[in-house]
Amino acid sequence: MVAIHRAREMFIAVLFVLNCVLGTIRADIDPSAYGDHALAWRPVSSLPDELRDLGVRALIRDDAEATARASADFGNMSVDVGVPAAVLYPSCPDDIAALLHASSARPSPFPVSARGCGHSIRGQASAARGVVVDMPSLGRLAAGPATRLSVSVEGRYIDAGGEQLWVDVLNASLAHGLTPRSWTDYLHLTVGGTLSNAGISGQAFRHGPQISNVQELDVITGLGEKVTCSKEKNRDLFDAVLGGLGQFGVITRARIPLVPAPARARWVRLLYTDAAALTKDQERLIDIDVEIGTGAVSGLMDYVEGSVLADQGLAGSWRSSFFSEADAARVAALAKEAGGVLYCLEGALYYGGAAGSERDVDKKLDVLLRELRYERGFGFVQDVSYVGFLDRVRDGELKLRATGLWEVPHPWLNLFLPRSHVLDFAAGVFHGILRRGTTGASGPVLIYPMNRNRWDGEASVVFPEEEEVFYTVGILRSSVPASSDGGQLQRRLEEQNEEIMRFCEDAGMACVQYLPYYAGQSGWEKKHFGPNKWARFVERKRKYDPKAILSRGQRIFTSPLA
Ligand code: FAD
Repeated sequence: MVAIHRAREMFIAVLFVLNCVLGTIRADIDPSAYGDHALAWRPVSSLPDELRDLGVRALIRDDAEATARASADFGNMSVDVGVPAAVLYPSCPDDIAALLHASSARPSPFPVSARGCGHSIRGQASAARGVVVDMPSLGRLAAGPATRLSVSVEGRYIDAGGEQLWVDVLNASLAHGLTPRSWTDYLHLTVGGTLSNAGISGQAFRHGPQISNVQELDVITGLGEKVTCSKEKNRDLFDAVLGGLGQFGVITRARIPLVPAPARARWVRLLYTDAAALTKDQERLIDIDVEIGTGAVSGLMDYVEGSVLADQGLAGSWRSSFFSEADAARVAALAKEAGGVLYCLEGALYYGGAAGSERDVDKKLDVLLRELRYERGFGFVQDVSYVGFLDRVRDGELKLRATGLWEVPHPWLNLFLPRSHVLDFAAGVFHGILRRGTTGASGPVLIYPMNRNRWDGEASVVFPEEEEVFYTVGILRSSVPASSDGGQLQRRLEEQNEEIMRFCEDAGMACVQYLPYYAGQSGWEKKHFGPNKWARFVERKRKYDPKAILSRGQRIFTSPLA
């Protein structure tokens, strides 16, 4: 008995040493490849044996620095997410499969969450007392970055690792004159992270969200099984994972269709003094099932968004750089005249490269500036490269980072709202709730419509299905408190978010959250999914992650599954 025990200890000690040695060897090969993780590969001391076993192939850390980093996110809201026991830095998908096998083989499995860049708001990518998988390591530690981003010119697609950033997907595609069609406003998000939600921006009215623009996925399910899925093969898993909030598997590869790329964009901002005029024009623009011609504006823009400019919306937000100082003063005067709230229709028309000529785009722009009902004298146009347009939020990010205003609390609220409620919502929220007592808050408030028929009802994502058009409203405020504020502004902003949700409920508006958050299962079941979608979601969970190992930071399921 003693001999067996000693042999086991010896074995563990050998693995232990291997883990440390391997860490050192890998760091020696290319320390820069590890970024901040190059600091020190400390031995793993408190993990179950099977995790130390994994150390032979993958790197695991359980020190306070690594686990604290893995539990922090963009929300920066001190939500009680719980710290993970360890962080896995996988060098290939097999490492993740081994981790999930190890967890599901235990009598009480430990939670595992894939973490893209942690752009979540409330700990969704964390795994309290479990293991966070640092997805970017797949790109850093793979044989070479090219192997995780591979373009097929003939097949018109790109195979992108789930950890890849959309900005890198864009650049790799453009090297072949090609581009994906559907985007997010900010490109420094991971492929797996946005596909677990939906991935929306101003192109979604035409092409649908990013989850409507995927041909195939490689997924590792909660049972540690590696499965390739698509609409033709393992369809149920494919549909489950898209918009599935990380509940059914870890996306390690996505095949994204490509089209010939334009070269430039005319980027347009038009100001409105009332919501009705804005939304009417937005809906004319996205009504792509109407034939273009006879002065109609439908389909003339390639990108359609909009925002609300209330007092704080003009200064300080990353979007304000569009206006010159003189313009900003005129805009502020217009806002005052309009009672403090303006609306901005934001659009873009692509040209050059595979798109139309500059002459064509000018003609379209003439039609738009003539036909749309914005405040005359308040139309602004810039000409930028296609990449400059798509990566437009990056500049603002760098400015905020430089002044320490990126790492502040972000009590964001994103909603999908049926078209028929949008004006009541604007009256109650933009002209009411949001105007009360949140001095110091900054950040954009977005509002734009999408065509429901570009969304796939079989995917896990939840969206309003009753009407042909629904709106997304993003109340993306940062809490930038004075140092003595003690978190008061953040609390006030969160209370306002709750007030907005109550307002919608009381008015019978069937709105749902995008990038949703509920503190417990009954909120998910009753307020988010509703009976039919909940039943399907649970059924898929039982099939692909029956031990409820994955993405517990979403707070949808506990283990064992009830
Ligand atoms: P994380 O936050 O790390 O993860 C999000 C969730 O997905 C977690 O539950 C995690 O466990 C899971 N997950 C992560 N990777 C994988 C994977 N490979 N496989 C399975 N599950 C995984 N969204 C839009 O749709 N449109 C926008 O325009 C937009 N703009 C944004 C701008 C900013 C500045 C920020 C911070 C966010 C924005 N988002 C936008 C939201 C963004 O889509 C989400 O934050 C999303 O979670 C992606 O972030 P991430 O890649 O860092 O994923």
